[in-house]
Order: sequence, then structure tokens, then C-alpha cells
Amino acid sequence: MKFELSERLNKLPVYLFAEIDRLKQEIRAKGIDIISFGIGDPDLPTPGAIIDILKKESEIEDNHRYPSYEGLLKFRESAASWYDKRFGVSLDPETEVLSLIGSKEGIGHFPLAFVNPGDIVLVPDPGYPVYNAATVLALGIPYFMPLEEKNDFLPDFSKIPEDVFKKAKLMFLNYPNNPTSARANRDFFKEVVKLAKKYSIIIAHDFAYSEVYTAGNPTESFLSVPGAKDVGIEFHSLSKTFNMTGFRIGFASGSEAIIKGLGTVKTNLDSGIFQAIQLAGAYGLDNELGAVKENNKIYKKRRELLLRGLKKLGFHVYNSDTTFYVWAKVPKIGLSSKDFAVSLLNDTGVIVTPGSGFGRHGEGYIRFSLTLSEDRIKEGLERMGLRQFT
Ligand SMILES: *Cc1c(COP(=O)(O)O)cnc(C)c1O
Repeated sequence: MKFELSERLNKLPVYLFAEIDRLKQEIRAKGIDIISFGIGDPDLPTPGAIIDILKKESEIEDNHRYPSYEGLLKFRESAASWYDKRFGVSLDPETEVLSLIGSKEGIGHFPLAFVNPGDIVLVPDPGYPVYNAATVLALGIPYFMPLEEKNDFLPDFSKIPEDVFKKAKLMFLNYPNNPTSARANRDFFKEVVKLAKKYSIIIAHDFAYSEVYTAGNPTESFLSVPGAKDVGIEFHSLSKTFNMTGFRIGFASGSEAIIKGLGTVKTNLDSGIFQAIQLAGAYGLDNELGAVKENNKIYKKRRELLLRGLKKLGFHVYNSDTTFYVWAKVPKIGLSSKDFAVSLLNDTGVIVTPGSGFGRHGEGYIRFSLTLSEDRIKEGLERMGLRQFT
């Protein structure tokens, strides 16, 4: 029998990293030690106290049952009180917070709640690939908003045609930004709220890196701007905050009506997060913010080390203090970011992520992750130093 993939699946972009994955296998098979700056997953451990709660709670039989789709009230209360403490945003845990099986799950399902076939969804480019995929799977039409260095990787709304705004249902934003590491300030968020009100656009702000910043200058929440809670929601994740990517836990917060729409999709499709994990996550939000500070000290040292080394090698790097990424220009004029990444891997066993994997406007850049030790970063820099770049 022949099986044809659905049109919507066929519309998803081809997987750009396939060639790099294949090359990586080949090189590894030769016994060459690979240094990967390509991993967007913290190498640091989940705080021990969070694991202890998980162990304890997983013994309790009540926690073995189906969890409710909206999440334990305890978890949502911890999320709300953390928002209040950290951002000065007050949220009703019953109606303005929804737990998620990781924020990717929530982002992936979100367009199904509000996007009709043919509706425009504004998607940052470069950006986390899930915004585009979720849009396409909901039969929406992505309109890519270029993020350019001259604008500090914020979209320039004056360049987007008025009729696009009129047809747009939803806008995804993500600050601190993956892959560029840029941050947004309140003035930008205020402009977003104005725009959202003017054209009735729902704002979905992906705030996965809210706690990953290194210069003692905390990031700001979109929801902390007046009016934001009327037009949007924020996706938060415990993955990057507490090094819990494998646990699958996050939450959405903001507008009650929007949270309700997302909740309706979820009621029909899933049953929430293992309760022991929710209780462990709640404990983290209540008690473990010191661990976040320690992580950030480590990322700061790694960033300084990598930036110094890359600058010495002649790279142009974007200066930033958020996320655990460094966004750099491909040093050789005329070489695509993918060709550069492939030749770097071939010649040195060093993996970087080509910017074009995040969208057309990522072309010309590569992304380095800071999820490896200082020794490995040094080793990576030394190997790159043996090559001519310009
Ligand atoms: C890692 C990441 C997420 C998703 O994290 P979850 O583990 O699904 O909570 C969401 N957005 C961005 C930009 C990310 O980098």
C-alpha cells in the first residue's frame, strides 16, 4: 500500500540539519572527538531538592492517576506567586494560568485554538521552528517578520504592510530570543500592545529564557506592560530555568479568554503533566531561584570565554547577556551558513548551528550554545584557531 502524507505535513520545511547529522555520525565513526556548540539543552543538572520532591511524590498513589488537563492548583498557584514576585504581574491561578507538557506543547497546539484556514500568523525570522510548524499544521499562513541586527533583532513593524496586520490573527514573539540572544525592553512591548489592540491580533510571547541572563539586569515580562493581559499570553518553561528539559513542564499565563481557548484544545487532546513532576516544579518556583543565579554565573563565564576567543579569531559576534547562545556572523563572505558549518565540522570536529535553520533571515549567521564546559569551549576555540577564516 502507498501512503501519502497529508498536504499540511508536506508543507513543513525540510529538515536542514540532516546533512550535519549524517556528517557527525561519519566523523564520530572515525573515532574523532566531536565538540558540539549545537546543543540547546542545558548540561547542568536539575537542582537536587527538586529531584527529591519528585522521588517522594512519585511514591504517592494519588499521583499515579490521570492528571487534570489544566494542572494541579498547587502548581498554578506557585506559578502565579512567582510571577508576582519576579515581574510584579498578578495572575489568577484558576483562570489565568494553564500548565503545559513543556512550552513546546503549548506553542504547538496554540494556533488550533484561534487560527482559521488562511488566517495570517506573524512569525519571527529567524525563530524557533515550532511557530511556523504550528501555524502550518493549523492551516494558517505564516508571514515572516525579519529580525535584523540593525534593529537589535526586534521586528520593524513599520515595514510590515497594513493589510498583513489586518489579516493577522496571531503574532509570535520570543525574548530573550533564540537564536539571536537579543532581549526586548518595555517600550517595545508597549508598541506591541498598541498594535495588537489596533488590529485585534493575539500576542503569544515565548518567554522560555526569562531566567537566563548574565549581567544582573533582569529580563522583563510582556505581561508587565499595561494592557498586555488583554491581548496576549506568555509561554513559560521550567526547562531552561531549572535544567528540566526532560521532565516536560511549563505553563501559559495571561488573558483568561486566550488561556481558555488553549485549554479547550488541551482538554480534547491530552491529560496534563504527571502530578509528581508538577509538585517538583512548584517546589522549584517556590524555593529554587538561587540555583538559577548559580547557573547564570556559569553561563556568564562561558560566554566571556567564547566571546573573547571568537573575536580573536576574527568573528563578528552580537553582544548580549541573555539566553545561553552566542549569535555570530559567518566569517567568510559568500559562504552560506550551512556550508560553513559543514566545512567546520569536517575540518575540526566542531559543531555549530547554521542560522538558516531558523529561517531565511538567519542566513549569514551561526549559533553557538554555551551548554558545554569551559574546558570544552577552550578546546573548540583552539581547534578553530588552526583554521583560516578570512
Ligand atoms: C527550549 C525552547 C522552548 C521549549 O521548551 P520546553 O522544553 O518545550 O518547555 C520554547 N521556546 C524556545 C525559544 C526554546 O528555545
